[in-house]
Amino acid sequence: MKLQLNIQPLDSWINIKNEPLLISGPCSAETEDQLLSTAHLLKATGKVSVLRAGIWKPRTRPGEFEGIGSIGLQWLKRAKEETGLPTAVEVANAKHVEEALAAGVDILWIGARSTVNPFTVQEIADALQGVDIPVLVKNPVNPDLQLWIGALERINKAGITKLGAIHRGFSSFEKSAFRNEPMWELAIQLKTLCPELPIINDPSHICGNRELIPYISQKALDLDMQGLMIESHLDPSVAWTDAKQQVTPAALAEMVSKFTLRQPESKNEEFTDKLADLRKEIDKIDDLVLQKLAERMSITQKIGEFKRDNQVTILQVNRWDEIMQKRTSFAKALKLDVNFTEKFLELVHGESIRRQTEIMNAGKAEAGIAAEAHVETK
Ligand code: PEP
Ligand code: MN
Repeated sequence: MKLQLNIQPLDSWINIKNEPLLISGPCSAETEDQLLSTAHLLKATGKVSVLRAGIWKPRTRPGEFEGIGSIGLQWLKRAKEETGLPTAVEVANAKHVEEALAAGVDILWIGARSTVNPFTVQEIADALQGVDIPVLVKNPVNPDLQLWIGALERINKAGITKLGAIHRGFSSFEKSAFRNEPMWELAIQLKTLCPELPIINDPSHICGNRELIPYISQKALDLDMQGLMIESHLDPSVAWTDAKQQVTPAALAEMVSKFTLRQPESKNEEFTDKLADLRKEIDKIDDLVLQKLAERMSITQKIGEFKRDNQVTILQVNRWDEIMQKRTSFAKALKLDVNFTEKFLELVHGESIRRQTEIMNAGKAEAGIAAEAHVETK
């Protein structure tokens, strides 16, 4: 099902100075000097369309720098007057909204720690009722697409049609090179549900370190995201927050000049014909893969019945080990990624187990299903 949002195209509410759309500025406004100097340097790059700065900082632990507060809004106002750059700040409650509006901030964004909480999002939505201002909604900290969608819907219902999403990655137990796992598939799902919704990527908060930012930025652009929000500080080594992930305005300009901008489609006939042919081939193969999977499942069914009639358990660990080892080495020889192959086999095996469990418990199913339905009242 498609997501019904009433939104205006991004270029009708942001004056995009240069492709890609770049929102940049310090993680936090620290001092008037720091903000103004950074703003001027960013403006001078000619590549930045919007100046961002955190005024109220949601920190994981109390006692860390929690934002300079309202005074920072006046610095931001001055930065805008001097550079002409429109400004963006994070708001986390109704008071922030009121103050930001009163100070003439141009764009508001809702942070990841606020999107997780529908009470907070609703409070912000209520404060925005009847106001005409662009709002960007960051994904929630946890990988829950419904929460992200719910926040966008709440803001849209308040009458905000200049609406966009920011993809800043998700908290994960798994250790990785990233501060927040990109989990691109969630942003892609959102895009699929609502193709008109602009999605801006925030590589700074995904990476947590400046070295990886170019890689994530290019990937976001290749996935047809509409812009980038990258934190920049005139001297990242002394930044009060997120020091490791901020870049100087000069480094930002250099990085952006190296991005490759690709078009979402080409009008070249030769290209479109060739692409259509290749897609036909893919469609055929996908049909075959599904057909073979269905055949595999029907054998699973037989095995399940056979095990049931002979009182044998569903899972035999040795057999599963053998499948994994033989198939992954075959996959390697076929130049398939091992990680992908393992995930795929686990998915197929999981489904086999689910089906066999169904067969084994056919008689006992009703009571179990009733109990599960009781638990799953979401
Ligand atoms: C930020 O943009 O500085 C910020 C706090 O981001 P997030 O809400 O994505 O953590
Ligand atoms: Mn930050």
